[in-house]
Amino acid sequence: MRKWIYTGYQESNDNPKRKNLLLRIMLVTLLSMLMGIGGLLFLTYNQKVVADNYSNSIDQNFSNVKYMNNISQALYRHQALIFQYMGAVEDREKREEIQEITAGLEAEIEDSLEKLNENLKGTDYDPYYHSIYSGFKSYLKNISYVFYFSNKEDTATAVYYMESALHFCMEKVNESVSELSVRIAADMDEADRVMAQRIRFAQESSVLLIVLLAGFSFITMIFCFRIFDSLVNKDALTQVDNYEKMQRDSVRLKKYGKFENFTGVACNIKDFKYFNQQMGDKTGDMILIRYAASIAAFLQKGEKIARNGGDNFILLIKQERVPQLLAFLQNMEISVNTSEGIKKLMINSRCGLYRIQQQDSLREVVNACYLALADARMNAALDYVWYDRTMHENMVKRKETIVQCKKGLKQREFVVYYQPKVNIVTNMLCGSEALVRWNRDGELVLPGQFVPVLEEEGYITELDFYVFEQVCRDIRDWLQRGIEPVRISSNFSKLHLRDSEFGSKVLEIIDRYQIDSKYLEIELTETSGYDDFNALVAFVDEMGRHGIYTSIDDFGTGYSSLSLLKDLNVNVVKLDKSFIDHIEEADEAHEKMVEDVVRMINDLHRDVICEGVENNRQADFLKTVNCRQAQGYLYDRPLPHDAFEYRLKNPLYSC
Ligand code: C2E
Ligand code: MG
Ligand code: MG
Repeated sequence: MRKWIYTGYQESNDNPKRKNLLLRIMLVTLLSMLMGIGGLLFLTYNQKVVADNYSNSIDQNFSNVKYMNNISQALYRHQALIFQYMGAVEDREKREEIQEITAGLEAEIEDSLEKLNENLKGTDYDPYYHSIYSGFKSYLKNISYVFYFSNKEDTATAVYYMESALHFCMEKVNESVSELSVRIAADMDEADRVMAQRIRFAQESSVLLIVLLAGFSFITMIFCFRIFDSLVNKDALTQVDNYEKMQRDSVRLKKYGKFENFTGVACNIKDFKYFNQQMGDKTGDMILIRYAASIAAFLQKGEKIARNGGDNFILLIKQERVPQLLAFLQNMEISVNTSEGIKKLMINSRCGLYRIQQQDSLREVVNACYLALADARMNAALDYVWYDRTMHENMVKRKETIVQCKKGLKQREFVVYYQPKVNIVTNMLCGSEALVRWNRDGELVLPGQFVPVLEEEGYITELDFYVFEQVCRDIRDWLQRGIEPVRISSNFSKLHLRDSEFGSKVLEIIDRYQIDSKYLEIELTETSGYDDFNALVAFVDEMGRHGIYTSIDDFGTGYSSLSLLKDLNVNVVKLDKSFIDHIEEADEAHEKMVEDVVRMINDLHRDVICEGVENNRQADFLKTVNCRQAQGYLYDRPLPHDAFEYRLKNPLYSC
């Protein structure tokens, strides 16, 4: 069954949308990484600077306090000793001892002052130091007078200097010390406050950084999710769901008993090949993207679209919305950017529809839709075809035909009949067409029963070469037996044009049988809306270079136009039977049209032959419009080998 699903080509994953997403995800990841690293470095550095500053300022303030304490304590001890000195009037020994201790204390104070100076130099505290220093120095000066007058036993003067040392000098020192202490304490409070502020700042920055990083990670996750979704569930080009996603959705719908509420639709863009080849792959891609987007926009919640390769789309649409969908798909207008600016295209769709049953799987639904679509493709008049059971039976029959045909080819069950072509002016045999018949278990099967099937399934090419080789073999045989053959045309399916070796394969067979090109003609049908015209032109030219005739078969049935002949150097145009079918009805306009067509073909210096001539009226009419060759039951039906050989020997017709 899987074989029946046309999967078409799959686009590579490097479409611009996906690339864009990948670039964005990389950018966001890089940004979050840089932000994270930068933020952490900044925070760490900031914390270190703050901590260093804080500990320096605390250390310095502590040591300043310590020096000031030393100075104060030493001064108090110093004063007490001076009082003792003054009291020890008679005791010389004690006085000497006290003088020695005070000298030590003074040195201690000097030392502390020096360290204090080192710390305070150049700072706001410098004036305090100088005040302490000068207070201390004047204290010492007064104390030296105290010593002096005490030694002279002038107690009153010594007391005077002592008082002045205490009142003026010491007060100055104490005042400065206490003011400095207050400022240092305030500074330490300030340092604490700044530290607390900085810590708060660091905490807030960390929170902000974490929030930003979380935000970036969230965005990255969304992008990642979109990429994942796009890779796993979306079609690379159109960004609608892929078949696998629809498969998963259908399983869920079945689980909840909703699958049978839908109708399966297989859609296909009419003449997409034409758009693709005429306007280029890029425009073709753009059409697919816009087409898919338009349908996706039309769908309601719950309805689905998936691309199934090429221009094939599968839809699951609510049953009651099918008429709306079919109307929507008719004459859809799509704008595309081309090198000549924005173009508006009318896009039509072919659809195969299937009403989903409870027990169906998506695979079965899609198969049914494709069978209906194949019917729509075959029937030019129908754009929408509903599946019915006979399609499946036909499909099975066709498979059977193919298997049997392949077997028949191996066992050489196919025979070639020859239908004469007649010059209706001279009534002489002037050519012939080789037509295949299948001798299937003794019954002669006509090509209408198997050629279209083989053509659809792509197996016709083998049969065409089989017939062509048989024609060459027969011509060789007639020549060897001294029977002069006529030019014999063989039908070749246009599927051959997809094979770049087609021309050389034909030439190889001709070469193998050593047939003069004047005995051969290749018939190609031009019935579809668009085929690879360039390949057709190239093939016709190649045959022309080797003197092999080419003809357009069934001219007038498809989209063939006279303007096509301008670029296509075929030698013969075979007018379809429909041109003369109703000639008896004396439809003047029609007769005029046939006359004009024949004249134009003649003017283009191409031979013209009419197929399906069944009566003399038709033959006479052809003569009046200057169509000099005919093929049809009036002269001969397709003849088996021997009967045709007889005709070769008796080429004059009596009618
Ligand atoms: P065709 O190439 O257009 O061949 C002409 C068909 O019209 C033949 O049908 C022929 O028997 C039929 N015919 C000829 N004169 C008359 C007439 O006066 N009245 C009527 N009603 N029909 C007439 P046939 O042999 O059944 O072939 C049908 C088609 O099958 C051919 O149409 C050709 O397209 C295809 N075919 C036949 N042999 C081959 C082959 O070897 N390769 C390919 N690719 N196609 C072939
Ligand atoms: Mg033909
Ligand atoms: Mg024909």
